[in-house]
Amino acid sequence: MRYISTRGAAPSLDFEAVTLAGLASDGGLYVPETWPRFAKGAISAMNGLSYVETAVRVCSPFVGGALSDAELRTLFTAAYGNFDHAAVTPLVQLDQRHWLLELFHGPTLAFKDVAMQSLGLLFQTFLGRSDRHITVIGATSGDTGSAAINALARRDRVEVFMLHPQGRVSEVQRRQMTTVIAPNVHNIAIEGNFDDAQRLVKAMFNDTDFASRFALSAVNSINWARLMLQIVYYFYAAVRLGAPDRPVSFSVPTGNFGDVYAGYAARQMGLPIDRLIVATNENDILHRALGTGDYSVGTVTATASPSMDIQVSSNFERLLFDLAGRDGSANAASMRGFEATGGVVIPAGQRAGAALAFDTARVDSAEMAAAMRWAQDHSGQHIDPHTAIALAAAQRSSCDSPVVTLATAHPAKFQDAVVAATGVRPELPARLKGLMTGEERFTVLPADLGKIEAFIAERARPAFAVAAE
Ligand SMILES: *Cc1c(COP(=O)(O)O)cnc(C)c1O
Repeated sequence: MRYISTRGAAPSLDFEAVTLAGLASDGGLYVPETWPRFAKGAISAMNGLSYVETAVRVCSPFVGGALSDAELRTLFTAAYGNFDHAAVTPLVQLDQRHWLLELFHGPTLAFKDVAMQSLGLLFQTFLGRSDRHITVIGATSGDTGSAAINALARRDRVEVFMLHPQGRVSEVQRRQMTTVIAPNVHNIAIEGNFDDAQRLVKAMFNDTDFASRFALSAVNSINWARLMLQIVYYFYAAVRLGAPDRPVSFSVPTGNFGDVYAGYAARQMGLPIDRLIVATNENDILHRALGTGDYSVGTVTATASPSMDIQVSSNFERLLFDLAGRDGSANAASMRGFEATGGVVIPAGQRAGAALAFDTARVDSAEMAAAMRWAQDHSGQHIDPHTAIALAAAQRSSCDSPVVTLATAHPAKFQDAVVAATGVRPELPARLKGLMTGEERFTVLPADLGKIEAFIAERARPAFAVAAE
């Protein structure tokens, strides 16, 4: 399998190269050259398979020989052995029509673990083959940082430097990062706010000497392998609910458009998905873009579902590329227009294409709280604010198929919002009991590029190890 850029001007890559790459050199994102198709019989044959076996079948055509099925099986067995539920992503029935797909049984209690745990092992495997090292740098306001740190701790050939704004992340979020004591994990508390941290990370990537000397790498959701790893649970859930003989719909709490794009990929691969519901909070750019064509950036509103407080959803470009007939140069022109002016109009023809698969819904904070109460009253389930946005959207949908709402975070990660809506404080799972007392390790640094680069240069390894004499 080859991967091509959505802007048509970067070289195509194989799976190993695309896993280690960030953005394409033309500013685009990598997508598979063609969508692998699964015949009905191949989907039926997934019935009763474990999560790991399902993952091997779904990912094998994308990996295209970069790893054998046996190597994939070993890798997934290690990655998902860390989850605290034997089904990895269990389905929970809410009523006759609604289901939750719990994606939060990994080490940091959010769905990002599902992809990140395997991505860490893919990095280690591929870097080992060519004796290379990478330096992962990120700025986090909480969740992505802890998922990346947990996945990359103690991996060979990877050093992780995670910047968080000192005193501005919750204690649980900070401790999920700083209590991971590993020689390759470096938490940096920046004397500044999140924007300062993000600006410093961008500046390091733009410092091309520094970036190439230490092979800087990012692990955000533009990484193709992360998306591929998320396709798996759409197959796993749909097959359990009757696919390929019965279509299923999914409602997805959406921020960067990575998770719902993985659902779209599953549909392109032949999984009978009826509707994909793009659920947004008050930050509703995707709802406007797919509904009326108004793809224009507003200001970010802070909500109780912070992982969806996003204006520009990077992965949306991948969908637009398909909707525009996979014409890279036309897509590049349209994206450059969007970047220059902060808005483009999605043409009616492309919106009609999207409407074959997608519905959208904007859910405000009152509806979000009502969905939390409904889940508690009807089935005794506590759900987090992100999940509640998607459940509210699912309840509004008029489709006939069963609707699976993706539960993207454990409710205990957002205790205050859950208490405010339901009066009940969800408990931290047993695996996090030691979190509040464990040893912490982090370094406080000023928001100064030179000081931070010096700190990293002392600890990171050059991209290619110097050959031993
Ligand atoms: C990241 C995240 C989302 C949004 O997922 P995208 O792939 O960015 O659309 C939703 N909920 C939670 C809890 C998240 O951490």
